[in-house]
Amino acid sequence: MAQKYKGSHTGEDCCSFCGAKRSDVALMFQGTGGVNICNACVERGYQMLVESEIAGGSGKKSSANKFRMEELMKPAEIKAVLDQYVIGQDDAKRYMSVAVYNHYKRILSRQKRKADDAVEIDKSNIVLVGATGTGKTLMARTIARVLNVPFTIVDATVLTEAGYVGEDVESILSRLLQVADYNVEAAERGIVFIDEIDKIARKSDNPSITRDVSGEGVQQALLKILEGTVVNVPPQGGRKHPDQKFIQVNTKDILFICGGAFDGIEKKIAQRLNTRAIGYGQHAGTQIDRENMMKYIMPQDLKSFGLIPELVGRLPVLTYMHPLTVEALRSILTQPKNAIVKQYESLFAMDGVALSFEDEVLDYIVSKADEYKLGARGLRSICEAIMIDAMYDIPSSSDKEFVVTLDYAKKKIEGANFLELKQVS
Ligand code: ADP
Repeated sequence: MAQKYKGSHTGEDCCSFCGAKRSDVALMFQGTGGVNICNACVERGYQMLVESEIAGGSGKKSSANKFRMEELMKPAEIKAVLDQYVIGQDDAKRYMSVAVYNHYKRILSRQKRKADDAVEIDKSNIVLVGATGTGKTLMARTIARVLNVPFTIVDATVLTEAGYVGEDVESILSRLLQVADYNVEAAERGIVFIDEIDKIARKSDNPSITRDVSGEGVQQALLKILEGTVVNVPPQGGRKHPDQKFIQVNTKDILFICGGAFDGIEKKIAQRLNTRAIGYGQHAGTQIDRENMMKYIMPQDLKSFGLIPELVGRLPVLTYMHPLTVEALRSILTQPKNAIVKQYESLFAMDGVALSFEDEVLDYIVSKADEYKLGARGLRSICEAIMIDAMYDIPSSSDKEFVVTLDYAKKKIEGANFLELKQVS
């Protein structure tokens, strides 16, 4: 058998694929049973693999993208990972963990459905309502990390109706494809976080007066994508597709998480609660927590805010984020797996310097973030203002230890321009 691959006149090894002689190629790999392959054929094979991946993957790849029930993380397991990164927000974590678990069960049930006629489970797209900086993006990002699926964040404010200045709704999927490295099958199971969904609320109560290309128009355009449809997506300069015009992406298994601050929605919630109170009379023992009206949010409040009913209907899981308390801010500084303080410590450790913060410094940072109304996002800017000089000087010094004292922190913050600090956030 091995003889078959020898050159007929010289007895020289030949490539079993293209027949090239060993002396004519740069490299010849020898397999068992007298089979050979030349470097050119290896390269061609690799190219074919890459191309099949771009086309959506096949064979081994697609089975790798399928998952089994026993492999799915249970809601409690998902929440346990969220707990490592996100402080508090227990309600939102529970809702999200269940929604994500159900979403992947739904995909599984459809994989099986071809065989037996199981019940079709609806999509569990999520809407997360909460003030800016309370951790909505962090939550979505962590979920994607847990599941190891492609994840992208888009800002609803840049979207406009097709044909108008701005980005078409399809651009959301271009980004997802990019992060999935053009593996369509992976992208089709990804997670998209649409931020600032409240900013595309209907601007007036009467939609027919003017065209509302960045409000209701976008909501209309989002409907189909959220529900599940095949979209022709322009690859947007993807380097692997110079000549491919569109890639077809099916959105039926993409999980959409929409986030928004919905400023002023508390009033709508209060109005609804008051109306109900008048209608049915005060229930004994039901005390409304006026400090945190958000926890009473219902889908109809999103409608009163200006989301069209069809869109609200396609976001069946509604949950909210609590405003961050001073205690929560304090924990955010030190507790999460990638807490800000831990990040500075590891930056300094790379220079061989042991960094530590006095406890009072951490309280001081939190009080400043609270005073400037900067929330969690402000913690980072305040830390930066305190640490910038040390980060500049320490790498060139021989110090092996650096303790941030309250005096030092105060001096740096008082020296920093307050206005600048506000702008950083
Ligand atoms: P949002 O999307 O709600 O505006 P982000 O998720 O972008 O807020 O949060 C802003 C920053 O604050 C993030 O860098 C995150 O690290 C931090 N942060 C906010 N809330 C929390 C939280 N609950 N736990 C841990 N970190 C948080």
